[in-house]
Amino acid sequence: MDYSISAQDAQRLHALRVIGREEIRPAGLRADRAGEPLPVGDAFFTRMLAAGFGRTRWRPEGQAGSHPVIAPNKGSTAVAQVLLAEEGAYWDRGIGVAMPGPGLGEPPILSMGTPEQKARFLGPFVNPAQPIWGAFAMTEPSGGSDVANIKTRARREGDVWILDGAKSFSGNSGRAEWIVVFATVDPALGRAGHRAFAVERGTPGLGGFRIEKKMGLKAYESTSFFLTGCRVPAANLLGGEAYYAQRAGFKGAMDTFNAGRPAIAGMAVGIGRAALDEAARFMQEDGLWADARLRDRWERCRRKLKAALLLALRAAWLADRKQPNMVEASASKAMAAPAAFEATSLAMEALGLAGGRGDHQIEKLFRDVKAMDIVEGTGQIQRIVMARKLVGLPHG
Ligand SMILES: Cc1cc2nc3c(=O)[nH]c(=O)nc-3n(C[C@H](O)[C@H](O)[C@H](O)COP(=O)(O)OP(=O)(O)OC[C@H]3O[C@@H](n4cnc5c(N)ncnc54)[C@H](O)[C@@H]3O)c2cc1C
Repeated sequence: MDYSISAQDAQRLHALRVIGREEIRPAGLRADRAGEPLPVGDAFFTRMLAAGFGRTRWRPEGQAGSHPVIAPNKGSTAVAQVLLAEEGAYWDRGIGVAMPGPGLGEPPILSMGTPEQKARFLGPFVNPAQPIWGAFAMTEPSGGSDVANIKTRARREGDVWILDGAKSFSGNSGRAEWIVVFATVDPALGRAGHRAFAVERGTPGLGGFRIEKKMGLKAYESTSFFLTGCRVPAANLLGGEAYYAQRAGFKGAMDTFNAGRPAIAGMAVGIGRAALDEAARFMQEDGLWADARLRDRWERCRRKLKAALLLALRAAWLADRKQPNMVEASASKAMAAPAAFEATSLAMEALGLAGGRGDHQIEKLFRDVKAMDIVEGTGQIQRIVMARKLVGLPHG
């Protein structure tokens, strides 16, 4: 296996490191101290747009390659994506999500959208004049793990689809140009009944946005909203009717997850590495390196993070070769989140009383890291996925 990256991806990694130190970490700390997401008009977003963030990897037909993707956080391979995710989260994972751009809505549009839909929904992100966002909404108030059982209903009425339901914890949806919303035409059909829609801002029936309180990752908004007789043009059904005739409805979301899990694992590792670096600084200043027990625990945490990152790179390497990576992708996330949690816990313990005051970078990382075990499939769900796969059961 070869985990090397192209010169252009190495350049991106370097750029991210510089911006991370100078801009991303201070912005994350600022939002955490304020206890709320950075507002849409924050000058930070304008500076980040100028630095190349906020772009899509999609290119208009015939222009692929002629206009290289310059976004510093978008690698050209899944392996590069994991390394960039790790580096970005090292500086601030909340800011990584707060960044303008199509976000989690981009993968389903890329995998399911028709050429016309890609142009309509991703075109504005090729070279935006101002920061704009896209969003992804699968999770519902009744629970996010059992994705096959989503309750938001979709029914066709002539040229429109009527959506009714509620979505929760969707990143950036309150400020998004469009939200990729998953709904079902018939719950009895399970996954085959799923449909994905690009629901544009201002669509009649889309509303009730409420930004949720979060223990960590405060820099970006996690928003719940309602779809009440929401009238979505038929042209916004991702992939069009033909796509679902092949019963591929659910696959779009799962594609997103399988591509996303190694990157989420990378992010967990990044948070854990940041905590260990901060702890090392603190332990050195306080003479704690002299304590062999602390030193040993610090080394063990580092080793676990490295192992988790290697697993994520392996999952990404398989994805780059279009080989099945379900077990590896789940394993990397199932390993990385607890390893990062252990690292931030050790860092908190090393801090002692200073950790309890609630104003140290490590304390912030300790709150931020929990979400890495939850998003894009909890640890329990990853273990279920792996066990089913290993004994030859279908995905479930
Ligand atoms: C910071 C943050 C950002 C998020 N961003 C988005 C977003 O942008 N878009 C979006 O759609 N969603 C988003 N989510 C939602 C996230 O995907 C869900 O929280 C996640 O899927 C878990 O769903 P749930 O919280 O409803 O827990 P539930 O599904 O209700 O599960 C509760 C607990 O039960 C466990 N559990 C569930 N089923 C089983 C089982 N069969 N066996 C064993 N244990 C089980 C779970 O692991 C969990 O610990 C976000 C969540 C967070 C915290």
